[in-house]
Amino acid sequence: MQRKLRGEKKKIINKILKIIRENRTFFITSHMRPDGDSIGAQLALGSFLKRLGKEVYIANRDHVPAVYRFLSHSSDIHVVEKVERNFDVAFILDCSDLQRIGDIIDLKNRVKIVINMDHHLDCELFGDYNYVEPQASSVAEELYDLFKQSGLEMIEEEVLALYVGILTDTGRFQEANTTPRCHEIVAELIKKGISPQVVSQKVYESRTGPALRLLSLTLRTLEVTAGGKIAHLLITQDMYKETGGREDETEGFVNFARDVAGVEAGILFRETEIGDQFRVSFRSKGKIDVSKIARLFGGGGHRNAAGCTVKGNVGEVKQKILNAVSREVANTGTTEGRDSQC
Ligand code: AMP
Ligand code: MN
Ligand code: MN
Repeated sequence: MQRKLRGEKKKIINKILKIIRENRTFFITSHMRPDGDSIGAQLALGSFLKRLGKEVYIANRDHVPAVYRFLSHSSDIHVVEKVERNFDVAFILDCSDLQRIGDIIDLKNRVKIVINMDHHLDCELFGDYNYVEPQASSVAEELYDLFKQSGLEMIEEEVLALYVGILTDTGRFQEANTTPRCHEIVAELIKKGISPQVVSQKVYESRTGPALRLLSLTLRTLEVTAGGKIAHLLITQDMYKETGGREDETEGFVNFARDVAGVEAGILFRETEIGDQFRVSFRSKGKIDVSKIARLFGGGGHRNAAGCTVKGNVGEVKQKILNAVSREVANTGTTEGRDSQC
């Protein structure tokens, strides 16, 4: 089985490399509210394609979070509602379904070939070619294998972008998607010049005063329910206004809910700018599958890290979500170990 999988992987990578050779214009995008993997993977792939002489256009619906702006060419990622250009090939990275790109392009009419590169277990195979590997820690890891197979030596900015993708999607090498394979790749990236300490400073030790004040207010909302098994946090629009902290600075806040001893599922409710609507982030321990809960509400994710957006006032949304999580916690026996992050 393992050998067969490896063979299939080689085949899909070869096919993608052939498509790259035979085409000229490339569009790259990823999911709304991008994270370290989506940004790192887009930049690494963009650089690789440009070095092969290709025309590359990267665009996302939402801007690059401040902590990833130290990555070379991050300012070249366009932030647009709609891309009105034609391309030979589109790479859709880190998206379990096409809704996640936020309708940024009319793929049917503007693109000849769609390539889906992802690592979500429930990824819809929406591409003409699908390089989907649920066992990969991140899209960055999948790209590492593609670069290797191409025979083209990686350059410094690509190495850094891939490292950031793997680092952030494994939750600093703490989640269950932290495999021997991903450590082997990271060892290679460090040999090529990455300083884990410097990158950690850029990504994690760069919180702003307003963001920390927002964290402080958020922690005050902590509630633990279901006999100590569920913890939740809340961020309202007023809290952003009061502190000056921004939504793109709240990455990792939800972990504080899961950090509580004995808690099996941590939840963060974030009120959106349009009101009566909340973005809900879930993190769990062990066997609790929060992606199942997120899917009930039109979202998705991984077993231990998932999200969705739910309409309603704060009381309604909390009640709906807490009921669903309580059911899942009650129906699932607890074991140690968590699955993949983002
Ligand atoms: P977050 O809590 O926003 O960091 O999201 C955790 C993970 O859940 C992401 O990496 C995605 O895989 C997934 N996710 C979050 N929001 C959604 C959504 N609205 N639809 C599908 N998947 C989502
Ligand atoms: Mn990812
Ligand atoms: Mn992601």
